Amino acid sequence: MTEIAVVGGGIIGLAVGEELARAGHEVTVFERDALGEGCAAAAAAGMLAPAAEVDATPAPTTRLAVESHRRFPSWAERLSRASGIDVGFDQTGTVMVALDADDLRELVHHEEAQRRAGFETRRLSRDEVRALQPSVGPAVVGGLLLPHDWQVDPRRLLVALATALRSAGGTLREHAPVVGIERHDGAWLLRLAGGESAVARRVVIAAGAWSASVMPPGVPLPVRPVRGTVIRLGTPLESRAVVRTPRAYIVPREDSTLLGATVEERGWAREALAGGVFELLKEGRRAVPSVDDMPVAELAVGFRPGIRDGVPAIGALDEERTLIVAAGHYRKGIELAPLTADLVRASLEGRPDPLLAETDPRRFMKG
Ligand SMILES: Cc1cc2nc3c(=O)[nH]c(=O)nc-3n(C[C@H](O)[C@H](O)[C@H](O)COP(=O)(O)OP(=O)(O)OC[C@H]3O[C@@H](n4cnc5c(N)ncnc54)[C@H](O)[C@@H]3O)c2cc1C
Repeated sequence: MTEIAVVGGGIIGLAVGEELARAGHEVTVFERDALGEGCAAAAAAGMLAPAAEVDATPAPTTRLAVESHRRFPSWAERLSRASGIDVGFDQTGTVMVALDADDLRELVHHEEAQRRAGFETRRLSRDEVRALQPSVGPAVVGGLLLPHDWQVDPRRLLVALATALRSAGGTLREHAPVVGIERHDGAWLLRLAGGESAVARRVVIAAGAWSASVMPPGVPLPVRPVRGTVIRLGTPLESRAVVRTPRAYIVPREDSTLLGATVEERGWAREALAGGVFELLKEGRRAVPSVDDMPVAELAVGFRPGIRDGVPAIGALDEERTLIVAAGHYRKGIELAPLTADLVRASLEGRPDPLLAETDPRRFMKG
C-alpha cells in the first residue's frame, strides 16, 4: 500500500507530488500517458499574468494568483536547482498593446481595473512599446506595461518537476491510467487499465480536464474541457517582453515564439480548426509583422480544465482528509501550481489555511 496516490501527472499532479515527497510523504503519481504527452500544460503558453487577466478573472481566483505569483520566483529557482533543468522563468514583463482607437479605450478600463486591484501598471506611448519590444509593427498605437506579469516554460517545468519528484523519493508511473476509485478496507482502491490495481491510504485527484471522470461515484465536480490552440513559430523575437492584444498573445521564448490562443467549447475533439488558426495568425502579424516570415513549427492543442464558477477546486472531500481534489485551474494552472501544491499539503496535513475556504471542493455538493 502506498501512502498517497496522485491521479494525473500534469503540472498540478507533479507539483503536488513533488511538494509531498519533499515533505517526507510516500507518493506515487499515476499518469495516463507519457510525461507531457496529453496534458494541457504541454500546450500552455506559461504566462504568469495576474494583472493582465484581472478583468476576466473571478476575484477569489485573482487572490490565489497573487499568492502563487509571490511564491513563483523561489519555486522556479528551487526546481531548476533540484533538477538541473532551466525552467525558462523570465521576468522581462508584459506589454498590453492597442492596435486601434477602440483598443486604446479598452486599455483605459484594463488600467483602472489593474490599479483598483493593486497591480503596478504604466501607460506607454507607441515609441515606449517599441523600446520594450522592438518586434512590434506600426499598427501598435500604444500600450500598458505590466512589469510583474512574467513567463515560464511549462514543458521544461514538467520535466523539472518529474525529476525533482523522483530525487525527493517519489514515484512517477507513466502509462498508468486510473479507470476508477473506490473505498476498500479504510483505504482507497485504484483500478488501473489492464486489470491492475493499487491501494493507497490517501488519493489526490489532479487529472485536469479529465478529473470529473475519475471521481468516486456520486461525488460531483463540474470540470469540463475548454480547448485551446497555440501556434509555435520557429523564430524568437527581439526581446522577451510578452505582447498581448485584446484578441491574442505573443510569448517570446529563447528560441521560438508562441502565438495563442483559441478558447473553444467543443468537448474532446483534438483537431485544431483552420478558422481559429487563421484568426491567430491575422492578429499576430498585425502586432508583430515578422510573424509572416516565421516557420510554423507546431500547432499545439490542449484541454484547459474549466470549472463552473471559475475558481479551482482544491481541498478535502471527506472529514478524514483521505480524498483530496486539485482541479479546475482553467487558464491559470501553470501560474497556480506552487500555491496549489502548498494548499494540498496543508489540507492533507490538517493545517488550516484561509485560502482553502475559497477553493473548498465541497461547495459543489450543496445542490
Ligand atoms: C492553449 C493553452 C494555453 C494556456 N496558457 C496558460 C498560461 O499562459 N498560463 C497558465 O497559468 N495556464 C495556461 N493554460 C492552462 C494550464 O495549461 C492548465 O490550467 C493546467 O495545465 C492544468 O493543469 P492540470 O495538471 O490540472 O491538468 P493537465 O496539465 O491537463 O494534466 C492532467 C494530467 O492528468 C492525466 N490524466 C487524465 N486522466 C487520467 C487518468 N484517468 N489516470 C491517470 N492520469 C490521468 C492527463 O494525461 C494529464 O497528463 C493554458 C492552457 C492551454 C490549453
